[in-house]
Amino acid sequence: MSVTFEISPNPSPRTDAEVAELVKDPGFGRYFTDHMAQIAWTKGQGWHSAKIVPYGPIALDPSAAVLHYGQEIFEGMKAYRHEDDSVWLFRPERNARRFQTSAARLMLPELPTDLFVDAARELVSIDARYVPPAAGEHSLYLRPFMIASEAFLGVRAAEEVTFYVIASPVGPYFAQGVTGVDIWVTDRWARAGIGGTGAAKCGGNYAASLIAQYEGYEHGCNQVMFIEASEKDRVEELGGMNVFLVGANGELVTPALTGTILDGITRDSILTVGESLGLKPEQRRLSASEVFSGIADGTFVEAFCCGTAAVISPISGFVTDKGEYRPQGQGFATTLQIRNAVLDVQYGRTPDEYGWLQ
Ligand code: PMP
Repeated sequence: MSVTFEISPNPSPRTDAEVAELVKDPGFGRYFTDHMAQIAWTKGQGWHSAKIVPYGPIALDPSAAVLHYGQEIFEGMKAYRHEDDSVWLFRPERNARRFQTSAARLMLPELPTDLFVDAARELVSIDARYVPPAAGEHSLYLRPFMIASEAFLGVRAAEEVTFYVIASPVGPYFAQGVTGVDIWVTDRWARAGIGGTGAAKCGGNYAASLIAQYEGYEHGCNQVMFIEASEKDRVEELGGMNVFLVGANGELVTPALTGTILDGITRDSILTVGESLGLKPEQRRLSASEVFSGIADGTFVEAFCCGTAAVISPISGFVTDKGEYRPQGQGFATTLQIRNAVLDVQYGRTPDEYGWLQ
């Protein structure tokens, strides 16, 4: 399905000098580009009215279903500038497919992959000056999202839905850089359960994770790791990232996709890259007690978390109310090797042997 986007240019865009200044130190998710992409869906008619419009507030009826029942999904992906000034998306069809999976779970309409990718491309093209220079791990973060915009208070699948893509130039997610983050481990709070929405990227999951995240902050941690609620000891993922353990024997272990965690695109890329670096990737059930005892006896020498926003961050320790477990590997060597290998593909510093860039 090929669609022409009607373009309404922003009448008062930032100047080139303002954009150049802004992309030097953009922070994360604070500034947005001049435009956004928008496509409407109506039951019986399907997707229609594809547009690029000036970035700005959305007019919603106060009875719009999304405001009451949270029928909403989103994605996160990045556009990277290479040394030769070209701009690339990383595996956008994977995000499109995950968006379709999320839509199915939340009873939202499926957006065809090419429409999803075209919307991202159109927006990146018109706002390309916001893609920061290649130096310094900066990029343009894209946030596609879909909301139940129908004005109706009954609890049912909305018959009017709107899809948007907005974009924000970003620097590193963790302000302290690649130094190792402490992770608060909890089984007191769950972000998802069996049969729930854990594998979907919907706003409610993140609202549900905040209380645990703030408990983590109180314990001096940057992120929280969830342990599956009904099987108390099963490691799931972090609030917004997947988790890996590196074994002394070269094993690269991450929890298997059980339907309660997000199928991360960084996670999937690491499984591929890890293998080519001579590691032994494994997706399996991982219990918190195995993680803690493995760190204590040296079976696991490193740990890291991964996601589009923060790429790959070494974990300096897992913190629980019973004690702390700190991997003893020297200088996060394997983590940084994997991190560089993934970034090298994203920033075009190495041949794209997997065909991940568009
Ligand atoms: N888990 C959760 C809960 C997330 O929000 C994210 C970020 N999208 C991830 C994992 C990592 O996914 P990805 O590598 O596709 O960004």
